[in-house]
Formats: sequence, C-alpha cells, structure tokens
Amino acid sequence: MELHLPTALHEAMRQAAEQAYPHEMCGLLVGAALPDGGGWQVTAWHQTANLHPSPHRHFLIDPSAHLALRRRLRQEQPALTVIGHVHSHPNGRAMPSPTDRALIGDPALVWLVLGVRDARLVDSLAWRPDPTERRGFAPLTLCPPTISREDEKTS
Ligand SMILES: [Zn+2]
Repeated sequence: MELHLPTALHEAMRQAAEQAYPHEMCGLLVGAALPDGGGWQVTAWHQTANLHPSPHRHFLIDPSAHLALRRRLRQEQPALTVIGHVHSHPNGRAMPSPTDRALIGDPALVWLVLGVRDARLVDSLAWRPDPTERRGFAPLTLCPPTISREDEKTS
C-alpha cells in the first residue's frame, strides 16, 4: 500500500519538524483513500500544537482540533477526511516507537513519522497499524520517495 504525499507538503512538514526541534512536531493529514485499497492520497495537512507535557519525547494532538477539522471537511469537502497524522522524532529515526504502538487508537489512521537529528530531517517513513507486525505497524510506500539525508551520506 502507498501513501501519496505531494513534495510541497512534505517540504512544509520538514520545515515544521526542524523548527519544532528539539520538541516533537505533530499534525493531521487530510486526504482520501486510493481506489482498490491501494493506499491513500494526502491533499493537505494541518500542523497542530503538541499538547503533551513532555514534548521532547512525546506528542499529543489536540483532540478538539481533530474533531473540528473532521467536522469542517464533512461540511465543505465531503470527499476528504482526516486520514492520519504526522509527528517527528527528535534525535530518532522515523520508525514507530513502543510509545507510538501503545498510542494506536483508530487502526484506520495512517502514521507519518519524521526522524530529525540536530534540527535536520534525516528520514520520513509512513506506516499503518497492523497487529500482526512485530512493531505493531506495517510500512507504507511513500510516493514520491522522500530524500533521506542518510542516503545522501552513503551515496
Ligand atoms: Zn513517535
């Protein structure tokens, strides 16, 4: 399954994650499911405040912002909905953490994780909850692929 993420949206998320460093950045992904269960298309995203009291290591998206966005989309753009969320891992990789696994609420939501090191994005990976996977998440293929600074270093 694929997560189609326009480059301009990923770029805006990168900037937000780097600016939020060393705190975790978080936001909501708006879009729609691709036909035939192929994955999801992201059409917009909304950065939300990280309400967690320990924002260096955790994130908490304001539930009222999430509900308000869903309500607004239903009224104004009913073909779209909140398909998932994004958060960053300061000084971590873009792999879901055990904390993330414990936070899985709605199993239909897509997770986009941005690994940031020294206020620079190092990788971006997309996931969907899958209880049969060891980490509790199965990887999604990001389209187009995002450039990883780790890859730049090794090439
Ligand atoms: Zn996380």
